[in-house]
Amino acid sequence: MDDTSRSTHDAGQPPLVRLTDVNKHFGALHVLKDINLSIQRGEVLVVIGPSGSGKSTLCRAINRLETIDSGTIEVDGKQLPEEGKALATLRADVGMVFQSFNLFAHKTILENVTLGPIKVKGMKPQAAKELGLSLLERVGVESQAQKMPAQLSGGQQQRVAIARALAMQPKVMLFDEPTSALDPEMINEVLDVMVGLAKDGMTMVVVTHEMGFARKAAHRVVFMADGQIVEEADPETFFTAPKSTRAQDFLSKIL
Ligand code: ADP
Ligand code: MG
Repeated sequence: MDDTSRSTHDAGQPPLVRLTDVNKHFGALHVLKDINLSIQRGEVLVVIGPSGSGKSTLCRAINRLETIDSGTIEVDGKQLPEEGKALATLRADVGMVFQSFNLFAHKTILENVTLGPIKVKGMKPQAAKELGLSLLERVGVESQAQKMPAQLSGGQQQRVAIARALAMQPKVMLFDEPTSALDPEMINEVLDVMVGLAKDGMTMVVVTHEMGFARKAAHRVVFMADGQIVEEADPETFFTAPKSTRAQDFLSKIL
């Protein structure tokens, strides 16, 4: 992405997602330590770091799939509620794409995409179908609409998972290592869809070690280790001149 399209997010606006002093334990394990992080509208944030550093927990906390022990998480100015209808509404604002595609195995590709809008948003089936087909087209799998998930390749299934998340018209999309379960030849077809979304101005949090994606699409890279944000920088600076020894060590292992 060139510098003009990178600057689509407006730093003068309140952040779309704001984590303040967030802490999370699993028993004795302190997995998120005083996390303070703001994501602006239209910003693409890449989160990188060693296995076990808390990246997935961070994503799951933003989507309220995990509770937090202290601190606050706000999405579009609203604090994440505990439960109930408000939580369902808020969750619809936050789309999530996982490493494992998690499609509904016994539904067609199109049904996978239309189910949420119909059930959660009360959309009419015909309107949901039109939306679903247009999203399947956007991710390049419209010809697969009537197939079952198992008939698709991993890369196609992951693109359907992206379309399914987009069907809820989320304000922010979270991607947790979306390409790490894919065969190498399928990685780019998924990353290309994500780069397209980024260019369209979607606010995105992407946990990935794909440096090419970060360089092409990210506004900012956050490096996590041991439950802490150790370093943050623009992608070029982070990958060419990491400051912390932890980031230097990590990059020397993955590059
Ligand atoms: P990452 O995504 O960076 O690899 P995670 O957020 O998955 O890290 O995990 C952070 C730490 O929390 C790890 O030590 C992991 O084993 C632990 N952990 C994650 N989920 C649970 C859970 N549900 N119960 C107990 N420990 C967990
Ligand atoms: Mg993880």
